Amino acid sequence: MTSLADIRSTFLNYFGKQDHEVVASSPLVPRNDPTLMFTNSGMVQFKNCFTGVETRDYARATTSQKCVRAGGKHNDLDNVGMTARHLTFFEMLGNFSFGDYFKEQAIPYAWEMVTKELDIPAEKLLVTVYHTDDEAADLWKKVAGLPDERIIRIPTDDNFWRMGPTGPCGPCTEIFFDHGDHIWGGPPGSPEEDGDRFIEIWNLVFMQNEQFEDGSMKPLPKQSIDTGMGLERISSLLQGTNNVFETDLMKALVDASAHATSTSTDESIVMHHRVIADHLRSTSFLIAEGVLPSNEGRGYVLRRIMRRAMRHAHLLGAKDPVMHQLVPALVQQMGAAYPELGQGQRLIEETLLNEEVRFKQTLDRGLKLLDDEVSNLPEGAALPGEAAFKLYDTYGFPLDLTQDALRDRGRTVDTDGFDTAMAEQKAKARAAWSGTGEAADSTIWFDVADQHGTTDFLGYDTTSAEGQI
Ligand code: ATP
Ligand code: MG
Ligand code: MG
Ligand code: MG
Repeated sequence: MTSLADIRSTFLNYFGKQDHEVVASSPLVPRNDPTLMFTNSGMVQFKNCFTGVETRDYARATTSQKCVRAGGKHNDLDNVGMTARHLTFFEMLGNFSFGDYFKEQAIPYAWEMVTKELDIPAEKLLVTVYHTDDEAADLWKKVAGLPDERIIRIPTDDNFWRMGPTGPCGPCTEIFFDHGDHIWGGPPGSPEEDGDRFIEIWNLVFMQNEQFEDGSMKPLPKQSIDTGMGLERISSLLQGTNNVFETDLMKALVDASAHATSTSTDESIVMHHRVIADHLRSTSFLIAEGVLPSNEGRGYVLRRIMRRAMRHAHLLGAKDPVMHQLVPALVQQMGAAYPELGQGQRLIEETLLNEEVRFKQTLDRGLKLLDDEVSNLPEGAALPGEAAFKLYDTYGFPLDLTQDALRDRGRTVDTDGFDTAMAEQKAKARAAWSGTGEAADSTIWFDVADQHGTTDFLGYDTTSAEGQI
């Protein structure tokens, strides 16, 4: 069996041989980029190389980048456990060209990597291109010999990448693998594209234009390449499954969760183990970088992820704290590639344990309140914002945890009502605080909240936008 570790090194060695500098993963907390919550793709550490603000002594690079998508523009939190392909923490393999090679080289590299190095059958692959990108479509025909029906032209932003509202942008191409008609789903661009039959494995971005504020676009003086391939997705298909949770590494964590909760991995409950396994990775990696649970910013996103996992452990009937017990399995699986896990093991275990002990004190009562509220609601009605706010304020339930808990019951939350309740409490707290002269911290709290708005400030993202790398 080809393990994740083998695939990671096959990829890096291949691009290393093609004169790419093998660069280490950058931290999850992006340096010098306060606008970004967490590193969510391989290109983040190279942003300034693409814009030309920074030059390095290499024009080609390759990485295996740790990524977290649990907030902001890319938020896959709600997808975890629901699709076969989404994790909040994953590794993105990538090759990059900073004004060096372009499409004519990026496509052959990708094709050779996938069909020769990884030996994936070509007849199972299909690609998408931006609808006007004839150049890319011609290259796929020429290099890969793909027939027209397996080169799908997409007119949406799914195949047009932008670094931001202004700056570098360009069309992109995505490579998909067809896992077979026993799985529900349709090809990209079809109404069933959200199914798990056709899974995107690699995204190649062709940075060729620059977008200006007045809406105009001009060709870049130097065209660049940015690519991202999901390590867990490619591993799953090489291991004969379409599900990232059935790969060697994730399966070991799912099994550890079953062991720690003295439960099975039966179809009926495996979803809980999957959420726990995924959230264990994202939370442990964040803690290893010094992010600690708190009520603001990144620390709050961390707390949200932790508490979600803890609710799933609770649903499995776990009486004792679970998450910290799984850390050794994670270190065993990933410690060699990411030494920070072993170095931070004690801190990770203690942080998870403290949080779980704290949260357990209110979890039962909070869930009971939630059940009572729901049983009094008319059929299909949303949970009132005040109830969701009480769960947040008194029982420590982040809004998205309440939403997650309600999803099985087919209910939603009145988020406007929640925001109103939050704003009222803030106003009250401010009135009560003014003039007491204590708690310098509160000043900071209010300042930050005013600056960013409560929603951003708390890390909520109810509109989970999809896009490309
Ligand atoms: P999808 O459309 O399936 O959500 P995406 O287009 O959002 O994927 P990109 O932003 O293009 O993904 O990221 C590059 C690659 O990283 C993807 O082709 C995929 O292999 C991998 N990837 C993206 N999101 C995830 C995730 N949540 N979990 C695991 N792998 C991911
Ligand atoms: Mg996505
Ligand atoms: Mg993509
Ligand atoms: Mg996509």
